[in-house]
Amino acid sequence: MKRTLDSLEGQPLEGERAWVRVDFNVPLRDGSVADTTRIVASLPTIRWLKDRGCRVILASHLGRPKGQRKPEYSLRPVVPVLERELGAPVRFLEDPVSEAAPQETRRLKRGEVMLLENTRYYPGEEQNDPALAEAFARLGDFYVNDAFGSAHRAHASTEGIAHLLKPAVAGFLMARELEFLLGALAEPARPFVAVLGGAKISGKIDVIEALLPRVDAILIGGAMACTFFAAQGLETGKSLVEPDRIDMAKELLERGGEKLVLPEGVTIARELSPDAEIKDVRPDEIGPDWAVYDIDENASDQFIKRIRNAKTVFWNGPMGVFETPPFDAGTVAVARGLAVATEQGATTIIGGGDSAAAIAQAGLADRVSHVSTGGGASLELLEGKQLPGVAALDDV
Ligand code: ADP
Ligand code: MG
Repeated sequence: MKRTLDSLEGQPLEGERAWVRVDFNVPLRDGSVADTTRIVASLPTIRWLKDRGCRVILASHLGRPKGQRKPEYSLRPVVPVLERELGAPVRFLEDPVSEAAPQETRRLKRGEVMLLENTRYYPGEEQNDPALAEAFARLGDFYVNDAFGSAHRAHASTEGIAHLLKPAVAGFLMARELEFLLGALAEPARPFVAVLGGAKISGKIDVIEALLPRVDAILIGGAMACTFFAAQGLETGKSLVEPDRIDMAKELLERGGEKLVLPEGVTIARELSPDAEIKDVRPDEIGPDWAVYDIDENASDQFIKRIRNAKTVFWNGPMGVFETPPFDAGTVAVARGLAVATEQGATTIIGGGDSAAAIAQAGLADRVSHVSTGGGASLELLEGKQLPGVAALDDV
């Protein structure tokens, strides 16, 4: 168990500089923030520190400037959003590693907030350079990590600095992620059902391997199902299949036995377009000119029955090309199934960027137990890997 922000309650925090790694890797459009979700999500941690009189120093990466000061990746557009949300001025520190920078942070008044420029403007960030971690550390007195989505990378602002500033604790967002992804899934209430989909099987083999011994069933949708169909010797037409993973899929089918559940039916079309002619067929009826773009209604019902029956559900990867209706139908149906299971008392957890987008698009994000903010990080946790950014935090 990792130490969380709560544990600092009652400590003399007034005037202390809290160095907070947040995830402000937000989409920008025409120089302003196009989606403020991630900024809003970090507010509970920021407000908690502000209310206790801390000087709050916020740091994040944005995009991939690859160690260069590229203006299109500046975090400056986040400042007005933060100011609006907090109802207070927010200072911006152009060069967090300059000699004057520590003095700038000391000049903050109690409860004031400062945002540092993009951590990835410095090549040392992704190299976890100790010198950069030290320069960063001069700007704070203790460390809070609230950037779960970056915790699977050992970078100067996520790992290196956590050894230098103590205490080093998990912020509220991070704590919630760990509670669900480690807590709920480590000792899941049963039946425990995983739903996996998305574009590729290759990136998710390790997840399937790690989940197999722990779950009661893995329901497979998305293009991933097609590689399994190919492993069963079925015609998959123009579907997205990974030929070099067919053997692995065969092996998983053997090992998984009845735990691996493939869709009973699929929605196929000859082209990926909203007004393409579509057919719902059994997996052994896919014609050579056709491609699978979704699970069909039969398969949705098949999956929903399992989901409603479950006490713990983990979902990663859409069931079809949800970006192009009508091929969103299977994904929306499964999302509804998760909402119903949640109402009935199941713990339901969603991981993965596209899956999170799909559940938001269906308007059901607040009807499941937890939507993880970290795609890669949540999968790595499930695979049983240690996340360097989490491992470096203080143990309870
Ligand atoms: P996540 O981000 O939730 O981990 P992935 O990135 O693995 O999910 O997969 C999401 C993508 O998978 C979506 O862009 C979706 O269009 C695609 N996808 C799902 N089913 C299919 C399919 N049958 N054929 C092609 N692409 C698919
Ligand atoms: Mg994705």
